[in-house]
Amino acid sequence: MSKNDRKRQELFNLLSANLELYDPDNAGKFRCPICLDVFGADSIIGPQPKVDLAHVYSESCGGKIETLACADCNSHVGTWFENDLVKEHRLWSNIQSPDHGIVAKLEFPEGFAVNARFYSTGPAKTNIEVLAEKNNPKNVELFKAAISKPNLSTLNFTLNVPTYHQRKLDVALLHAAYMMMFRMFGYEYIWAAPIEPIRELLTGRAAPPHTDFLMMTDLPKANNLSKQLLYRVGIMTDPPEYKSFCVGLPSPNPQVSTRAIFLPGFGETDCKAYEKLWEDRAKKFTVRATVLKDDLWRHLGDPNYRYMAQRLWRFPGHDSAE
Ligand SMILES: [Zn+2]
Repeated sequence: MSKNDRKRQELFNLLSANLELYDPDNAGKFRCPICLDVFGADSIIGPQPKVDLAHVYSESCGGKIETLACADCNSHVGTWFENDLVKEHRLWSNIQSPDHGIVAKLEFPEGFAVNARFYSTGPAKTNIEVLAEKNNPKNVELFKAAISKPNLSTLNFTLNVPTYHQRKLDVALLHAAYMMMFRMFGYEYIWAAPIEPIRELLTGRAAPPHTDFLMMTDLPKANNLSKQLLYRVGIMTDPPEYKSFCVGLPSPNPQVSTRAIFLPGFGETDCKAYEKLWEDRAKKFTVRATVLKDDLWRHLGDPNYRYMAQRLWRFPGHDSAE
């Protein structure tokens, strides 16, 4: 048995015991958290198992935490959405590396453009190299003339950087937050919270222009909550009218240590709180959250922990961080 076979088996045992608590008709089986299809114990066996390890956050972006999903959903999310998360990470790592940098186009209002390599040389410092071999010599001359004008104080240009699809990246982040919730609370959250629209997004092929999900805030390095929330689940308890779950994910931006993604809680009243948070998402306010213990997932198969998420949701405790 390989290391991955063993991990799959352990997660299958844990999650099928958890499924039995909420869906006794499918005792001993696994339901994919994304498409909700049911799989038997033989689905984790073989060289190409139908149910496989699923990284909560893409492995190529440094994600290490795993749960299970069906192989079809895994590859669907990877192709349609996570790919743009990988592009975002690569862009940030290249811009910080003098060996790589990123090649972008500088478009001048005078009607010419030059290709240049950008890389960061320190906080708020960027080097721009206009590369002779990547440009039409005529445009290089026009560029030289533009920057050597006497009394030049401002240089106007549009910067065209090859980038990622922001809406697809958003869905990838929503996927990671959803999988964190599944890993932590198993089927309880998936059954009881009003999150069907998230599954519709994840099984779809397009990033919609608008969704009522994905509220995200970047927590700077020095922030107290930032350190505690990374790869953890929290409950935002204050301001109380916005009570929501929050999930901490990493960011490739060196100034940000954690991206906090907000998700709805349980029950009609508390979902109203999430709707209110959505409506007021542009406002600024200080939040207080209780970061939950990470080892709760170990108890997913224990009947005594049934409705663990809803109990914590109602009484989140007091060890809060701002
Ligand atoms: Zn699936």
